[in-house]
Amino acid sequence: MAADTKGLKENFADAQVSVVDCPDLTQEPFNFPAKGNLAFSTSADLSKGVRGVRVVLQVYDLNTVAKDIELPGAFILGAGAVSSRVLGVNAELIPIVQTKNEKKPAVNGSYIAQINPADKGCLLEKYSSKYSDCEFGLLANLYASEGQPGKVIEVKANGRTGELNFVSCLRQTLEKHYGEKPVGLGGTFIIQKGKAKIHIMPPEFSACPLNTDEDVNNWLKFFEMKAPLICQPVIVSRDPGFDLRLEHTHCFSQHGEGGHYHADTTPEAAQYRGYLLPAETLFRIDRPRDAPRVGRD
Ligand SMILES: [Zn+2]
Repeated sequence: MAADTKGLKENFADAQVSVVDCPDLTQEPFNFPAKGNLAFSTSADLSKGVRGVRVVLQVYDLNTVAKDIELPGAFILGAGAVSSRVLGVNAELIPIVQTKNEKKPAVNGSYIAQINPADKGCLLEKYSSKYSDCEFGLLANLYASEGQPGKVIEVKANGRTGELNFVSCLRQTLEKHYGEKPVGLGGTFIIQKGKAKIHIMPPEFSACPLNTDEDVNNWLKFFEMKAPLICQPVIVSRDPGFDLRLEHTHCFSQHGEGGHYHADTTPEAAQYRGYLLPAETLFRIDRPRDAPRVGRD
């Protein structure tokens, strides 16, 4: 398959890729919400496309999204923004939700990363410590699976030697191999050692329009956060013409840090271990009429 080690080894000193049984993601350091072994979809067919979603400028409910993508009860991971209607401010959402089905209510294991009003640092909280809904706002890139035990692709990469971050390296490797055929990938990976560049949106929307990447970067708050960081990538190798964001990764930790992943800042120390699976179907919900070309990294 494309995710052999060739592409990774152009960017990392050491890399291994193998197919393994998904580890029990209810255990440390993941603590994902589900009984038993919470693996991803058992599909291993790379050729079918993508199961992911991007939504814009509205309030959404993950239970509704699960129904809309014909996977009620789906286990959803990814990267999005909180509903400012619920929180009253902007914040990064690290969605980890077992959506509701006919028998069971939803289990929301998501995290919120926001700017701490007290010290302007990162405030990472469990969503369920304050809220009981499954809403999000603005946009999200989501990877939905049945959450069943099964095989996943384990990717290990140590010692970054190239310019690409881990997620871009995976995506570009897929793109190189599959060309025009879009391939989606999702799941989780851990930055085990070193530090990473992470952003958090400020609590208030910008007073002036953000027209360029520079505007966006000046508005966002950047941090250097330390490992271990548990990350949730949603990757599409190539845009089939839906104005997709091709890479979007949010992360959390057990030490109070989290947000939107950009790259590690300690290339030599960098150690990544991921459990990923290709997607079967791509869903695009509410494509914006005037899709912005900025703020996609
Ligand atoms: Zn983000």
